[in-house]
Amino acid sequence: MAKIDKSFVKVRNLKKYFQTGTQIPFLKKPPAVKAVENVSFDVFKGETLGVVGESGCGKSTVARLLIQLIKPDAGEIIIDGLAVEKRGGISTRDLRHRMQMVFQDSYATLNPRMPIEESIAFGPISNGKKPSEAMLESKHFMDQVGLDPNIYLHRYPHELSGGQRQRVNIARALAMGPEVIILDEAVSALDKSVEAQVLNLLTDLKSDLKLTYIFISHDLNVVKYISDKVMVMYLGEVVEYGTVEDVYNSPKHPYTEALLASQPSMDPSRKLKTVPITGDPPNPINPPSGCKFHTRCPKVTDLCRTVNPKLQSTDNVDHLTACHLASNVTEVDVLNAQKGLNS
Ligand code: SF4
Repeated sequence: MAKIDKSFVKVRNLKKYFQTGTQIPFLKKPPAVKAVENVSFDVFKGETLGVVGESGCGKSTVARLLIQLIKPDAGEIIIDGLAVEKRGGISTRDLRHRMQMVFQDSYATLNPRMPIEESIAFGPISNGKKPSEAMLESKHFMDQVGLDPNIYLHRYPHELSGGQRQRVNIARALAMGPEVIILDEAVSALDKSVEAQVLNLLTDLKSDLKLTYIFISHDLNVVKYISDKVMVMYLGEVVEYGTVEDVYNSPKHPYTEALLASQPSMDPSRKLKTVPITGDPPNPINPPSGCKFHTRCPKVTDLCRTVNPKLQSTDNVDHLTACHLASNVTEVDVLNAQKGLNS
């Protein structure tokens, strides 16, 4: 991948399988859901990486792995040159000072019995800050996210709207002084007008506080608006990665093409005549051989059924895709894959 050494968040070969049952001694291992497989990407300082894909593609699992809410089975996560939970690297506790997360459900993430002031101060107090100091700072963070402390400081979550609660969640993240914030569908549950306000708030905070975002969403328009780079995921794998301009203007992967073609448009001349993608994603317990997208791909070839394409550069070195049509797979690759299948 390009510019590896300068990346602020570097992820290499991340893997996470979820077992579907408990293993009984001497019996066959229960099947596993292959949620994330061989995921590698870079996020540069001050950049917003948008992560898109259908439900179940593994984007939220990647977010939870990044912040260590769940532990990876394999792979490496490196923050500012420090490997997470590795000797000489960074501990989970220190990681969470540098990286915070905002979730989709603004109500479930707040304690219903805690007033907003305490909710915002909770993280810093748990990390050793004096309660009086942390409470005072709560007002500042409320101001920063556009909530008037004189009105909202002593209110409870149920007394706020969804947009206000999500602002509180952003304030809670800011209170820990992070450099990276993961926003997992953070605006998806909001009304369109409120969504626009929160997106503008996030853009302002990013430039004022020099933040880096990992923005997960299924809404391609929102991702286009807020992101610098985009990563498209399908069935636990990255299938395309590049700048917003490259991916939106010249998608290289048939799945990205289908996602972009599926976007609703107000222009009657862009009315869809055929459905760009049909069927459901395959079962992640038993994914297809070769390219995982081959069962739904309109451009499938024999090669796609046996050889899983690697994520690699296209004609543009910073625009990566995992599709045989965009790369030059040689006869040798095919023979090696067939050998592997027959052995
Ligand atoms: Fe389609 Fe083949 Fe490309 Fe996979 S590798 S996306 S099946 S053309």
